[in-house]
Amino acid sequence: MRLDKFLAETGVGSRKEAKQLLKKGLVTVNEKVIKDGKTHIDEKQDSIKFAGETLTYQKYYYYLLHKPQGVISATEDKWDQTVIDILRNEDYREDLFPVGRLDKDTEGLLLLTNDGQLAHQLLSPKKHVDKEYFAKVQGVVTEKDVRQFAEGFALNNKEQVKPSELMIESVDETSEISEIRLIIQEGKFHQVKRMFEAVDKKVVYLKRLRMGTLWLDEDLALGEYRALTEKELEDLN
Ligand code: URA
Repeated sequence: MRLDKFLAETGVGSRKEAKQLLKKGLVTVNEKVIKDGKTHIDEKQDSIKFAGETLTYQKYYYYLLHKPQGVISATEDKWDQTVIDILRNEDYREDLFPVGRLDKDTEGLLLLTNDGQLAHQLLSPKKHVDKEYFAKVQGVVTEKDVRQFAEGFALNNKEQVKPSELMIESVDETSEISEIRLIIQEGKFHQVKRMFEAVDKKVVYLKRLRMGTLWLDEDLALGEYRALTEKELEDLN
């Protein structure tokens, strides 16, 4: 691998920044200062240091983010903060992306990675991976809705949604706000909101709790993230 690519992938900086740092003589390969980013290195064998600190190469990165509202599920955007912008400098890598999308006003679990294969595995409709949500819904959710969701139905005469599991947690008859959990295995555009619209109700708060075997931790504050544990990663694969 080229040294500049290695530096970018270990989070030292973009390739352009890496070039500047190399020029300054801050990078050594096997204790020798190397200034040319095109130099080929063996990321498994060579000892590569930046400002005296050893850099270790990791191919794939996995972060579980508790996405807050107001942040968009994209890698870059002109106007809004993205989920990638949340990452601290030392965790940022050019190739990280969110696994699927949550709406700007949706909170909850979002996996950030550069592992395209795992992302495909989690998102492909053929893999039937559960996505579990908690929602507050304006309107009284009924057992009839539960049955309709369990059977699957057409969102708008043509777009069919597959059977899903709707659980009513509470219904406040005075405010007509229902709290529910919903497990779906698809990821259509605004799917949860549109499913409730189809039964004449409105989602007023939405949070994703789980994707497959991966749960959002209760104590991970909004806007915080952490690396997945080895066990979580093993279970997802
Ligand atoms: N369904 C929605 O409507 N919005 C989301 O953000 C996720 C699922």
